[in-house]
Amino acid sequence: MSEVTLDRRSLIAAGALGTAALGIAGDSAFGKTLSPGQRKADFAGAIKAFRAVVGDEWVAGDASAVIPWTKTYIPDPGGRHAPVGAVCPENVEQVQEIVRIANRFKQPLWTVSTGKNMGYGMTSCATPGQVVLDLKRMNRIISVDAELCTALVEPGVTYQQLRDYLDENNIPLWIDVPTVGPIVGPVGNTLDRGVGYTPYGEHFMVQCGMEVVMADGEVLRTGMGSTKNPSAWQAFKWGYGPYLDGIFTQSNFGVVVKMGLWLMPAPPVYKPFVVRHKRMEDVARIVDAMRPMRISNIIPNVVLMMGAGYQLAMFNRRADVWSGAGQVPDSAFAEAGAKAGLGMWNTYFALYGTPVMIAENEKIVRAAFAAIDGEVLTEEDMVGNPYFHHHATLMRGGLSLEEVGLARWKGAGGGLAWFAPVAPAKGSETAGQIELAKQILGKYGFDYTVAFAIGSRELHHIIALLYDKSDPEEEKRADQCYKDLVTGFGERGWASYRTGVHSMDLVAQQYGTKNRAVNAAIKQALDPNHILAPGKSGIA
Ligand SMILES: Cc1cc2nc3c(=O)[nH]c(=O)nc-3n(C[C@H](O)[C@H](O)[C@H](O)COP(=O)(O)OP(=O)(O)OC[C@H]3O[C@@H](n4cnc5c(N)ncnc54)[C@H](O)[C@@H]3O)c2cc1C
Repeated sequence: MSEVTLDRRSLIAAGALGTAALGIAGDSAFGKTLSPGQRKADFAGAIKAFRAVVGDEWVAGDASAVIPWTKTYIPDPGGRHAPVGAVCPENVEQVQEIVRIANRFKQPLWTVSTGKNMGYGMTSCATPGQVVLDLKRMNRIISVDAELCTALVEPGVTYQQLRDYLDENNIPLWIDVPTVGPIVGPVGNTLDRGVGYTPYGEHFMVQCGMEVVMADGEVLRTGMGSTKNPSAWQAFKWGYGPYLDGIFTQSNFGVVVKMGLWLMPAPPVYKPFVVRHKRMEDVARIVDAMRPMRISNIIPNVVLMMGAGYQLAMFNRRADVWSGAGQVPDSAFAEAGAKAGLGMWNTYFALYGTPVMIAENEKIVRAAFAAIDGEVLTEEDMVGNPYFHHHATLMRGGLSLEEVGLARWKGAGGGLAWFAPVAPAKGSETAGQIELAKQILGKYGFDYTVAFAIGSRELHHIIALLYDKSDPEEEKRADQCYKDLVTGFGERGWASYRTGVHSMDLVAQQYGTKNRAVNAAIKQALDPNHILAPGKSGIA
């Protein structure tokens, strides 16, 4: 059991609070657009009431105080997605009180946990006029059960905090992290259905039990958490009756204030690999070779097929690779990649288990890649290669921020938006997607910096739209390009699994009217005043 709380200084250092938040310059954020139908007096009333609950210093209620919550990487040319305020509670009771106040003043709240949803919007909101309900201060690791390999955490807990806790207490468990692990946390990442790269990489799959403040201010525990003896809360996901946890992910039906997750026992042996392929079209053969090994769990972790462009963008600036006009050609990526020890495709995966298990599975893996001319390389072959080192770190749940360098590919402006359409894990799905992505990105002058990922039976095309956010014209182009990607891929049946606040409605349209109507009905039943994150996943 650990009781860790952040003081104000560390929150300010972490960018959660602006210096203006210390003084709270005034009550007016009216330079910003309020939510539809909202009166200035209601906004002011809500801010005043929030202050009474959490204290002045934990509320940003004016245009300058809210600046730290407006930082974003996605294109937002009109500033439409910036929040108008922020409130930072420190416990469940305060969250309940804030939600009740929000109902009273019809003040919408955009909930974040660690608030670092980079490339999807950070703490910006789907619709104008929202106050960020920032749960960073609620950062207690409530319990870790070393026998069951489970944890129960609050929303503000970061992966770094969890890793440190396990190390300090000599608990030999692994965590599974997204690529930006140190500064983000399991609750926000899981609720947005994020992924990592160990065998526990599908985060919602290894989530177990939630505590949720509902829009009426009441508290719900899912799964076994609401029984008289909730000791199996983190052990058994399903409880009884309809499974509710799913409706609190990628949604606006509640505020999750506690979440259980499963942790992975450290395996006796861990062996990371990369397989290099030279040609763009090779990715189809890689997917077909990989699919049976993922489905049968011979390869137990999420597999990343990293394109040379994406890899180079992690550690280089565009000018280092290409100074010509238009989209960087494959030949330039291939040439620069070869110098860096990269193929056109670099497929990262790992084996976990006893030496005997690994030796047997390695034979199967090597035979599968020999049949498709893959160059299979291990740690010994890749000593000193920063790309291999980065992925080897991730696939054992290690923490790294190296990949954030992507956002500087086009300059210091820091523009990045993820586009991630889903297809079945079949090689035949790749060529059409590559052609379409290159065509749309090229039309707007952006590069094909991508990876493919195989979770199990599905293929994600992870497209990093990299642009210079400090150039307003380029930001507008990026915005239009992203919309074209969503609609162009959508028309071919490749809809996104997740998207940024700038495109939530557009993506929701691709899932059909009945799907939207059911979501709307649930929303109306649970949150009749629509105060929780209107617009999240296209749900008003
Ligand atoms: C270079 C780079 C690499 C990345 N790699 C990965 C990766 O490998 N895998 C991956 O998944 N992502 C990745 N990301 C995207 C993102 O940064 C992470 O997913 C990050 O974990 C999300 O931010 P967070 O954890 O702070 O969540 P938050 O920003 O706190 O939350 C995300 C969203 O979930 C909802 N939410 C959060 N908390 C609550 C709550 N308590 N109740 C209800 N709803 C809530 C809100 O809609 C919120 O906007 C990457 C980003 C960058 C820039």
